[in-house]
Amino acid sequence: MTRLRLATTTPGEPEIFHSLQGEGISAGRPSVFVRLSGCNLACQWCDTPYTWYFTGHPGKHRGDQTYQRRDNSVTLDIADVADQIAAHECRHIVFTGGEPLLQQPALAALCDLLGPDYHIEIESNGTVALAAGFDRHVDQLNLSPKLAHSGNDPGLRMNEAALVAYARDTRAWFKFVVAQPHDAEEITALADRCGIASDRILLMPEGTCATDLHARSRWLGPLCLERGWRFTDRLHIHLYGDTRGT
Ligand code: SF4
Repeated sequence: MTRLRLATTTPGEPEIFHSLQGEGISAGRPSVFVRLSGCNLACQWCDTPYTWYFTGHPGKHRGDQTYQRRDNSVTLDIADVADQIAAHECRHIVFTGGEPLLQQPALAALCDLLGPDYHIEIESNGTVALAAGFDRHVDQLNLSPKLAHSGNDPGLRMNEAALVAYARDTRAWFKFVVAQPHDAEEITALADRCGIASDRILLMPEGTCATDLHARSRWLGPLCLERGWRFTDRLHIHLYGDTRGT
């Protein structure tokens, strides 16, 4: 039996849902989202702290509230996950988290079960390399390397060897969460070091409410124009607010 550890919407209910992709190059596309539990980072502004900020976690999140692991994660056999995905009759899947690439063997087994008709999109922080067994299933990578303002230790948040490999991968897009204008210099330096092409870079305002997104978008839009980078909003926040299962 192969199992995945998933986030929950309510205790015991896995966070598998049908919605519009809110961010990145596929924004607006109807997709089935599968949110995995667990992350190797601890971003202070993370909008899904319930996937990793469990009681006793040594990291720091700005919300301060910690979460009971028992109520906020559930392990499910991949056959049950496949059934829940298939129930939505949508062939575009987004594996998100948390950090989904921490569970690649089980994801590979799930994809084998689902068969070839699905388009598989991955949302990852870019610190974990694709494993050979899962690589062949992946159609699109939405990588979000974390900048200094995430509050993570640099040695933890950045795996430049992995990013160099991803920079050569035509499936990969690089979406940076931006909090202040000078983040652009950090992104430029990283892109230069890792060989990330400008036309693969998207900038997204940090924020979990429409007011904050709008305020940052006002300077982020012109900044993207100036640097030749793409801008991405957070559609789901505008449509549903900062809620689980959306
Ligand atoms: S990498 Fe993503 S899921 Fe993990 S703490 Fe940072 S924002 Fe949250």
